[in-house]
Amino acid sequence: MTSQRPLLIGDPSGPSPPFPLRMSGPVIAGFGRGSKELGIPTANIPVDTPDPSRPDQWLNSTPSGVYFGYASLQLPSGHPDFSGTWQVYPMVMSIGYNPFYKNTIRSAEVHILHRFTADFYGSQMRLLIMGYIREEKDYAGLEALIEDINFDCEVAKASLARDGWKVDEGLVEGGGWLLAEGENKKPVEERQGEGKL
Ligand code: ADP
Ligand code: MG
Repeated sequence: MTSQRPLLIGDPSGPSPPFPLRMSGPVIAGFGRGSKELGIPTANIPVDTPDPSRPDQWLNSTPSGVYFGYASLQLPSGHPDFSGTWQVYPMVMSIGYNPFYKNTIRSAEVHILHRFTADFYGSQMRLLIMGYIREEKDYAGLEALIEDINFDCEVAKASLARDGWKVDEGLVEGGGWLLAEGENKKPVEERQGEGKL
């Protein structure tokens, strides 16, 4: 069933409007549904902060479902994976209504395609959402859910590996924002001098 879904999403030349979309916030505790035990930990970030300066005002009107793109993290110096810069990783994320709050509050949770040595609750996370994968579904069992999410991860990896979708080429709008460039937060040497960021 999952194998019938396309592996590549969007045009090879890059994301089309409204993408890429931006969102940011601290990693907060989620709903303890045991995502980690399933091998699919999801870093939750708040979506209900009424701050008009946040670049995520699009969120209320965007469809629920599974999206893909990039996450960047500023890990604290005590974290075993600390590098001193914002680290960028591919991700898949779900945006939806959390049944826990009786479907009134939207939640955003991000599975980063990287194996971390330790948790990073409290770290700042930036998201550059590059495209929409699928609607959320109800599953008869965990196995089907995990299979679908694993396929979502493959979609993200394959789609982001194309030239027009790589943030490290400096071509994608929002790539510099992902690395917090221009904010005097630990410049990333190899990206200096790239005008398009
Ligand atoms: P919660 O219900 O608190 O969100 P999860 O089981 O979903 O708990 O685990 C999420 C936490 O796991 C994240 O907040 C983060 O600190 C950690 N984590 C470790 N690896 C990853 C990863 N690859 N993607 C997302 N979160 C990860
Ligand atoms: Mg979670």
